[in-house]
Amino acid sequence: MKLIILGKPSSGKGTQAKLLAEKLNLKHISTGDLLREELKLKTPLAKKVESYMKAGSLVPDSWILELIKNNLPEDNYILDGFPRSLSQAESLAKITKINLVLDLFCEDDLIIKRTIRRRICPNCGAIYGSTLIPKVKDICDKCGSGLYQRPDDNEKTIKNRLQVYNNDTSPLIDYYKKRNIYSKVDGSLSIKEVQSLALKKITTIK
Ligand code: AMP
Repeated sequence: MKLIILGKPSSGKGTQAKLLAEKLNLKHISTGDLLREELKLKTPLAKKVESYMKAGSLVPDSWILELIKNNLPEDNYILDGFPRSLSQAESLAKITKINLVLDLFCEDDLIIKRTIRRRICPNCGAIYGSTLIPKVKDICDKCGSGLYQRPDDNEKTIKNRLQVYNNDTSPLIDYYKKRNIYSKVDGSLSIKEVQSLALKKITTIK
């Protein structure tokens, strides 16, 4: 099974992709996470992509496609944060056939609120925010590490990221509708509700 999880920043893509990957035994491939790992390891690629990520702009396709090629298995995966433009979707279509695109829809004002509140565990990758609040402030429930805020999770950058989504990523909705693999889920619901709706949509895959 090959899935894409689509949506604005903070629509819940990472949270839902992790849950679905665990439940359905899929590899979770997040281009954002792969890029943040490059930054952490201070690789040569990190120097090239850092300014784009800081600004909330799209990293050029050649580097993203290289990351995808190096991390894409034959089958059984969920893509999170890729593709983000028609050119990326076309490149992906040349190498594989996707079964379903789940689009977690949220209004912009909710996205801005969620982004500013989002905190991440640097150790286990758990994501906290408006719907999942850690028991102890800024401490991960799962592993006890201190949580951090992504440098691009601020009001100025999120506005640019939303603009990038509207200009470059939202045309993917029609692209995948035309290919009959598009499915919309209300991303404003609770984590559990979104997951159960997503799982229902997945059972419709032929
Ligand atoms: P994310 O964690 O998916 O929100 O991604 C964080 C940042 O990484 C984005 O704002 C972009 O700068 C970059 N990025 C992640 N995925 C892609 C992609 N598919 N194409 C271009 N840039 C990306």
